[in-house]
Amino acid sequence: MTLTLMSANDPHPSFTLDVLVIGAGQSGLALGYYLQRSGLRFKLIDAAPRLGMTWRSRWESLRLFTPAEFSSLPGMPFPASTSSYPGKDDVADYLQAYARRTDMPVQLGTAVRRLTRRDGIFTATTDNGTIRARQVVIATGPFQTPLIPTLASGMSASVTQLHSATYQRPDDVPSGRVVVVGAGNSGVQIAAELAAAGRDVTIAIGSRPRTVPQRPLGKDLFWWLTRTGLIKTPSGTRLAKKFQARELVIGASWRSLRRAGVRLRPRVTGAEGANLRFADGSEQDTEAVLWATGFRPDYDWLDIEGAVIDGKPQHTRGISPTGGLSFLGLPWQHTRGSALLGFVQHDAAWLAEHICACERRAPDPRGLHAPLDRRASRVTSGGRRVEVQVDAPRS
Ligand SMILES: Cc1cc2nc3c(=O)[nH]c(=O)nc-3n(C[C@H](O)[C@H](O)[C@H](O)COP(=O)(O)OP(=O)(O)OC[C@H]3O[C@@H](n4cnc5c(N)ncnc54)[C@H](O)[C@@H]3O)c2cc1C
Repeated sequence: MTLTLMSANDPHPSFTLDVLVIGAGQSGLALGYYLQRSGLRFKLIDAAPRLGMTWRSRWESLRLFTPAEFSSLPGMPFPASTSSYPGKDDVADYLQAYARRTDMPVQLGTAVRRLTRRDGIFTATTDNGTIRARQVVIATGPFQTPLIPTLASGMSASVTQLHSATYQRPDDVPSGRVVVVGAGNSGVQIAAELAAAGRDVTIAIGSRPRTVPQRPLGKDLFWWLTRTGLIKTPSGTRLAKKFQARELVIGASWRSLRRAGVRLRPRVTGAEGANLRFADGSEQDTEAVLWATGFRPDYDWLDIEGAVIDGKPQHTRGISPTGGLSFLGLPWQHTRGSALLGFVQHDAAWLAEHICACERRAPDPRGLHAPLDRRASRVTSGGRRVEVQVDAPRS
């Protein structure tokens, strides 16, 4: 099977797709799987020159916190033993193999610079011309622009500053003292790696996350979350809000970090020269700072009023108030699994149904594009039968 790499420009500029999916990471691919069964005319476009680039660009030693068993996209199990924890390049290879195996219509090297909507039709202005579509799904990932607190500007040029998004290996950090700011999964893993490589490491813990073992009582955490149904707890419920309030740091504990030689301090409150100040009044000089302070989404290219407010996509379970627009892969879009490799398929299947329902309700598109081959098809999501059915062929 070959990956359907589409030509940079559609042959006819007036051609209008039923669905344009922006972003061909795991979220876009999972949605593509269900759209393929809908008979709708769609394609995925991605800014990257190669599939899986988001994963490839992450630090070298990164391994999944979800075992292979809970890291599969629909229709193709992750090719690794079920209880193993694949590396980040294994994930990138898997995404490439997935797109090839499913013959996914993906157009790479096509960044969307502007998305507008007029008279019910979206126009995506890309590096390779414009693409028109009746519906658009934004699957551009939750982790886009590295976020570094403004106080970083107080540090002198002699201090090496890196964000977790660009950190690759301990050699990127000069020998001596390093302060890792942020104690989510990334910060904790990188702090442990730097300590093992002989650096003098301090970690600044802002909002104290909850630490959980990777395999409580001998079973992986995601086995428990799946078995108890917690992974599917809808956002907005009291239980989900409790979950959301504190990040889960998986497979580490504050005690294990201390044992590894990492010094624990509270939130950083000031930075001047080579000196960092912490919330408890303590101070420390450092040769390097690693900002594991998260990301902010980037929707500057989205030129549709009301779609994004204060940087936040407006949606209910991924559906934007702008007709025909939706999002996929947002953290807690519907559940804790919404932004996870093995669980995004549930939102993708649900969204595909919604998209098909919209197409059924849409006015007859004849005149806009050629008749559709609209087959009824059934798809499965995690063992659950999902109906993705669209109109019978129009004559
Ligand atoms: C350090 C780290 C570790 C993680 N570990 C795990 C784990 O163990 N298990 C797990 O399930 N999840 C994990 N995740 C969470 C999640 O699975 C990943 O973040 C995943 O990459 C999200 O997939 P996505 O498809 O939603 O977005 P992405 O992988 O970010 O893909 C989005 C795509 O959109 C493209 N794009 C962006 N903007 C544009 C544009 N304007 N035009 C065209 N294309 C565009 C990008 O090129 C990219 O290919 C981890 C996340 C991080 C940050």
